[in-house]
Amino acid sequence: MSTKRCYYETLEVERDADETKLKAAFRKLAMKWHPDKNPGDASSEVKFKEINEAYEVLRDADKRAAYDRYGHAAFEQGAGGPHGFGAGFASSFSDIFEDLFGMAGQRRGGTGRERGADLRYNMEITLEEAFQGKTAQIEIPVSVTCESCSGTGAKAGTKPKTCAMCGGAGRVRQAQGFFTLERTCPGCHGRGQMIEDPCPSCSGSGRVTRDRTLSVNIPQGVEDGTRIRLAGEGEAGLRGGPPGDLYIFLSLSQHEFFQRDGADLHCRVPISMVTAALGGEFEVPTIDKGKTKVKIPAGAQSGRRFRIASKGMPVLRSRQTGDMYVQIVVETPQNLTKKQQELLAEFEKLSSGATQPEAAGFFTKVKDFFGKAAS
Ligand SMILES: [Zn+2]
Ligand SMILES: [Zn+2]
Repeated sequence: MSTKRCYYETLEVERDADETKLKAAFRKLAMKWHPDKNPGDASSEVKFKEINEAYEVLRDADKRAAYDRYGHAAFEQGAGGPHGFGAGFASSFSDIFEDLFGMAGQRRGGTGRERGADLRYNMEITLEEAFQGKTAQIEIPVSVTCESCSGTGAKAGTKPKTCAMCGGAGRVRQAQGFFTLERTCPGCHGRGQMIEDPCPSCSGSGRVTRDRTLSVNIPQGVEDGTRIRLAGEGEAGLRGGPPGDLYIFLSLSQHEFFQRDGADLHCRVPISMVTAALGGEFEVPTIDKGKTKVKIPAGAQSGRRFRIASKGMPVLRSRQTGDMYVQIVVETPQNLTKKQQELLAEFEKLSSGATQPEAAGFFTKVKDFFGKAAS
């Protein structure tokens, strides 16, 4: 079925070879046939691939069992191999190498630099502040260079010693056959120095936590939940890594009489029954700390809204402004004097349906309703 060489033959091992033997055999052959060691020799590359493929299968107990049972057919794509392992050997080359030579993590580790953590700061502001925008001073704890030891981490009067393991480079090179691996020095964790007498202020870390005052510009029109990112104002990075970012999470406190709806502001104003009936004028406060007049026509019903253009909130990062809506709520008078009661009773006597349009309409409907029910 397949002209491929037997995996065991490829790796030059017995069929019952254990993991250690497989690994040793693979390592020996991979070294021998590695393309870097055989420049210009195309056949060595083919051989190298075969070796990798064989090892990839045999190192995996499941794949090995399938291979022992079905041979190469177990892995042929589309041929209905019973386990469907498929190809993808090339992609796992690196895994094998990392596994074999203990390189895992080292590549990503790079120079041992680490970006500092992002910080979150919650800030509550008032609606007026969101309207005007403001510059807020905030105090955030940040790690800074320790002053006692100037960041060396060594106790005053002593000096950190150059790391003997890496000679101060922070990196060590290891020869693995023809590979040379470079990784963070395990002795000094990349610092290049060893501290024998740690600084008491920072416990040898070279960094201390301090409160730092920052100015934050809150633009006009921010909303509840707006996030402001201050790039690079997060925690300091490690070993020369970049700092993280600082995020200000804004929340708006409830206003005494304004409700916000996007850029519009709403407020409810109670008015007397008489003002509603006769019409009138009253003043309402505006978010810009000013006042504006609202004219009520005679006979205005409770719940009616009056729009005051451009007295709402600014729209974030635009020149637009929302509107303000004043909703009137007609209040029923309470605790009437005898005289007031008499006057109202008198008023009621003089009233006809025309003075109460909604009631008139309603009672007509009720009449119709019972009329229909009866018939
Ligand atoms: Zn210190
Ligand atoms: Zn070192």
